[in-house]
Amino acid sequence: MPISPTILPELIDAIADTINANADEITKLDQAIGDGDHVYNLQRGLDGLLKQKDELAQMDWVAAWQKIGMTLMSTIGGASGSLFGTLFVAMSKAGRNQEINLQSFAEIFLQGVESVKKRGRVEVGEKTMVDVLVPVALSLQESAAKSAPLPDVLNKVKSTAIAGMESTRDMIATKGRASFLGERTKGHIDAGAKTTQLMICTIADVIGAHSDS
Ligand code: ADP
Ligand code: MG
Repeated sequence: MPISPTILPELIDAIADTINANADEITKLDQAIGDGDHVYNLQRGLDGLLKQKDELAQMDWVAAWQKIGMTLMSTIGGASGSLFGTLFVAMSKAGRNQEINLQSFAEIFLQGVESVKKRGRVEVGEKTMVDVLVPVALSLQESAAKSAPLPDVLNKVKSTAIAGMESTRDMIATKGRASFLGERTKGHIDAGAKTTQLMICTIADVIGAHSDS
């Protein structure tokens, strides 16, 4: 799976388009059990990345992930900024001196997700982005272990991300702003889980389209 960072401008454009297209829905989710700013926070981060996309395309993955992480941390704000930022900074650290292929990427992504869990002091089942990130990381590990073909890897990642996002609906939030509402968070999908799912599915689609051609 030798995918080069030259794909980053296209990935960033596609993610920004997806988030913009779903902005109203994301705002409603964060308004229901949070403060409604999640999509604006994320759009600030994506604006930051859009400005850097040509520079990012010239870097190697380790440098690009580091820069993406720092940009997200400094632009997003909110609880989600440091968490999304941590994901990429930790991936950069885990990816040093490694050739990036499906097997190494699965491990690097898992390390990134572990750092998010530590940073957020959060586990699966607490109604956050982690309910998407953890199952996706495990699905990648499973695919890597059996050297699954790329289309299968991507399909599995997408269905796992969607199932993880949906799983937050019936959870009671115990972390972040939503935790103030306790039981009343039941019945609402977590906004950060939704945006994480949308971004992961978009990344899978862009990578899938490249490998077709
Ligand atoms: P804020 O909650 O500060 O307004 P955002 O609205 O940008 O920040 O992000 C809210 C999202 O961040 C939530 O939907 C949830 O997915 C995620 N989140 C909040 N706190 C945590 C945490 N401790 N661990 C993991 N994710 C969290
Ligand atoms: Mg919010």
